[in-house]
Amino acid sequence: MLSEGKKRSFLGKLSRKIGDALMGRAAVDEDFLEELEEILITSDIGMETTMKIVDILRDEIRSNKLSDPEDIKQSLSQIITRLIDKDADHTLCKDIPLVILMIGINGGGKTTSIGKIAYKLKNEGKTVMLAAADTFRAAAAEQLCIWGDRVGINVVKHGEGSDPSAVIYDAIQSAKAKNIDVLICDTAGRLQNKKNLMDELNKMNKVIGREFPEAARENLLVLDATTGKNAVSQVKEFGDVTDITGIILTKLDGTAKGGIVITIADEFDMPVKFIGVGEGLEDLKEFDPAEFAEGITY
Ligand code: GDP
Repeated sequence: MLSEGKKRSFLGKLSRKIGDALMGRAAVDEDFLEELEEILITSDIGMETTMKIVDILRDEIRSNKLSDPEDIKQSLSQIITRLIDKDADHTLCKDIPLVILMIGINGGGKTTSIGKIAYKLKNEGKTVMLAAADTFRAAAAEQLCIWGDRVGINVVKHGEGSDPSAVIYDAIQSAKAKNIDVLICDTAGRLQNKKNLMDELNKMNKVIGREFPEAARENLLVLDATTGKNAVSQVKEFGDVTDITGIILTKLDGTAKGGIVITIADEFDMPVKFIGVGEGLEDLKEFDPAEFAEGITY
């Protein structure tokens, strides 16, 4: 569970606005629905998703003759849950061995999320190793090593500019020799050079498939939730270059409005698996659609 403080910071604003819009109304009418529409749109929920939510709520208000604010909140919470759940598996693959490729642009919170996931898995009793396959920036491997030290796990790295697939190859040999349960690989997210990125990710995927065919796979896309619509376009862009099995939305403790989670969950067939709610090792939360929707409406 999130601490109340962290929950309030990214869901509370939206929840309060919805509560205010409902308060003191003689009737739940089109006026309310219009106000709700504006609240949702200004909370980073895209136009299409907002219209979907408001249209379903209007129907439910009419057909169930809802007027009590609590009933309306409950109905809204259920609508949002259905929209973002989609019966998808929101949990990280439990099979071992598992190879996770972490994908996303610089600054999005990829390295931090790797540290958090490694910490979580280690606490669950799994053995974890990291591969510094973002060889584009020297600082990337250094930062990953800092997280490796913090969590107390090994990091496989080569020099700056070396072939990322060679790092993955070595990491796989080492992970197999040491019977590692989960290998988490950092990658360089150079979206401005899509062809290179695609080639690089293809090559990494091929090396993993060839050298570690028994391993289960996750390709997790890390997105900064404070970037709003940019995060949505990154899902499209990265989805074009490789298969994404899940999304991590970071920085939901900050200025992010929370609604971006709903838009991404509604628009794409990629389950949100984790949300980042701070810079510390424990600030990663498994995504629970019902809990999230409830946090918005209550
Ligand atoms: P990378 O370039 O994608 O590897 O990004 P980093 O992991 O280095 O993160 C970039 C910045 O975002 C760092 O200052 C992190 O501390 C910060 N950061 C990452 N995740 C979160 C989060 O969930 N909440 C907050 N507040 N900051 C985060």
